[in-house]
Amino acid sequence: MTGGLVEVIPVSGYDKPLSYLPPTKGGDALRIGQLVSIPLGRQKLQGVIRSLNVESDFPAHKLKRIYEVIFDEPVMTADTLALAEWMRGYYAAGNESVFETMIPAPIRAGVEAKICRYLKLARRLDVPELETLNRRAPKQAALYAYFLGISGEVERNKVIAECGVTGAICDGLVGRGILVETQQTRQRVAYEDDLGNMEKVIHKPVVLNDEQIAAGNSIIASLDLHTFRTHLLHGITGSGKTEVYLHAIQHVLNQGGGVIFLVPEVALTPQTVGRMRTRLADMGTEMVVWHSMLSAGERFDGWMSLARGQARVVVGARSAIFAPVHNLRLVIVDEEHEPAYKQGDTPRYHGRDVAVYRSMLAKAVCVLGSATPSLETLYNAQEGRYTLNRLTKRIDDRQLPKLRIIDMRSELLRTKAISSISRDLATALLDRWERKEQSILFLNRRGYSTSMLCPDCGYVAMSPESSVTLTYHKAEEKLKCHLTGYEEPAPTQCPSCSSEKIRWRGFGTQKVEDILSKLLPKAKVVRMDADTLSKKNEFREILGNFRKGKIDILLGTQMIAKGLDFPNVTLVGLIDADLSLHIPDFRAAERTFQLIVQVSGRAGRGDRAGEVFVQTYLPSSAPIQFARRQDFDGFLSAELEQRKEFNYPPYRHLIRHIFRSKNLDKILFYTERWARLVEETFGDTLEIRGPAPAPLERLKGYYRFHVWYFTDKIARVITPLQQLRKDFKMDEEVVDVFDVDPIDMG
Ligand SMILES: [Zn+2]
Repeated sequence: MTGGLVEVIPVSGYDKPLSYLPPTKGGDALRIGQLVSIPLGRQKLQGVIRSLNVESDFPAHKLKRIYEVIFDEPVMTADTLALAEWMRGYYAAGNESVFETMIPAPIRAGVEAKICRYLKLARRLDVPELETLNRRAPKQAALYAYFLGISGEVERNKVIAECGVTGAICDGLVGRGILVETQQTRQRVAYEDDLGNMEKVIHKPVVLNDEQIAAGNSIIASLDLHTFRTHLLHGITGSGKTEVYLHAIQHVLNQGGGVIFLVPEVALTPQTVGRMRTRLADMGTEMVVWHSMLSAGERFDGWMSLARGQARVVVGARSAIFAPVHNLRLVIVDEEHEPAYKQGDTPRYHGRDVAVYRSMLAKAVCVLGSATPSLETLYNAQEGRYTLNRLTKRIDDRQLPKLRIIDMRSELLRTKAISSISRDLATALLDRWERKEQSILFLNRRGYSTSMLCPDCGYVAMSPESSVTLTYHKAEEKLKCHLTGYEEPAPTQCPSCSSEKIRWRGFGTQKVEDILSKLLPKAKVVRMDADTLSKKNEFREILGNFRKGKIDILLGTQMIAKGLDFPNVTLVGLIDADLSLHIPDFRAAERTFQLIVQVSGRAGRGDRAGEVFVQTYLPSSAPIQFARRQDFDGFLSAELEQRKEFNYPPYRHLIRHIFRSKNLDKILFYTERWARLVEETFGDTLEIRGPAPAPLERLKGYYRFHVWYFTDKIARVITPLQQLRKDFKMDEEVVDVFDVDPIDMG
């Protein structure tokens, strides 16, 4: 038996913890969560220290020694180490992919922080000393004079540049003890400049209303219990959820705790991030912004600043949930219903669910906030698993906008043509423009026309090797595939029968932009979608111009619907509410309901009441009717009834097992055989549906099939399923992956 060993979990290559002897240097300062380099077989790998002072009955002479500790600061915390283990099991992911996701690449690569040297006056000289210095070292004396006029420290490089001195002269004064030099790692603060010029946050004293105070106090009461608890903050659009978050954050910071604040996409929520930064600065706290656009250096600095406990708050996209925040007390997931929280690649984790789980491990409080919570979350609140805090009033008692459903069937009867903008909406747009008020139009389909059709032979332009139609982009005269990025020149005659009568069906944002320019020739219309936002800061530039009133009508896809708050917008139009209803997804009704409520929230943020137009061919469908009345409880009970009937989440967990192959015969053969095997093995505990072709049956030349499993408890079935899969011989031309709690059903 050998004691005093260190248990290390390798970040790649091997997924069980291994025991090592401490390194020859610094073995007494080891800490849990430190990144170390270790010998494994003949390789040198990285690992994370999992526990200290362990014993092993492995023969002592065979034990190997840790090479070195890569950083003094632990890059993982005890709770994220436990989280890694849970993620491996729950999401059926390999060790390597979990650590790659949890430890940022620049940390694993060991990018060094930028070290800055600072100089500061250490003492003042008396007259004889100064005379001596003037005589013996006039240049040093001049530098001394410069520092007399400065209070505090100055970067050494700046001193050299400004005073035209050499480094040796600085060192001379340091040597005489007149200046003192300090070294600090300077944090590269991401986003600061970008946000500085646009999202100037107006400082007004914040007065919380009764509901905000009640919600804040309820969260604080949970925080004071120092146990795990999840709250759902269900606040209608414009009800001031952010102020409630800030109230709770202040409480945690006062007690020396740490906070993780998640937003679906940092780049699309500059207002929230800007407001957080300003308010946290007021509280005297640094925050780290975490998102995919950061440089390696920015990532390194941000992570290390949290690891050192220097910064105590991180605001970021889903992967910020893995940040090594010290003494984590509060985790906030804003817009918790957003599909962007789910990662599309392995490990296919859900940021919100991981947030709840990490809060449990850290005995922290988790707050899920939304104007349109997901069914899963609403159900958890209804069942009493989450504490429900509601905000039903808009701040300053602003009214919710009036919602009008436009029946596009009668529009079709009147005009005998499919139109994108109904006459009522057109009148309302004109009306706003005359009153110098602003409008926002949403259409979740970019491009000009949805598809190209030949009326003579029925030819439809399809993406090669994918089962989706090509979209016509008029500006470039191209047909584009929105899934794969494929593009080709738009034909002038039918590629199949050479007919010149080819037509463009359906409309996208480009076509609506065209129509608007004819409808309101003098109005300034700006289109904002993935096609126009090629440059990095274009998004914020357009929003800045919109805020300044330089734009009358903002037209865009759903990407612009997130949390925008413009006081002069009094009209919002949803051009085609049916788009999300027709997706082959059991969440179609939920998505439609959420979309209508969310876009409605963009109107009437100022003093004037807003109006919302929802255009649909299905005016009586449930989600549209419930959204019209803003009836969450009604929608929840109707939708839960549907879900229950088919055993869909939240009643059962769903695992989607996706297969792909270029060979149709093989994918048919193996998915059939596999499903039969699962049925025989787990038929009593697992409900199986499929195999069936996925809605997106072909993608980039691959056929796609899926099998669904329904279960009460993922943890009980996922490991046996994986084991069964390991033992199942499948042709290497067929590739498969498990998607636990899937969001994308395409
Ligand atoms: Zn044709």
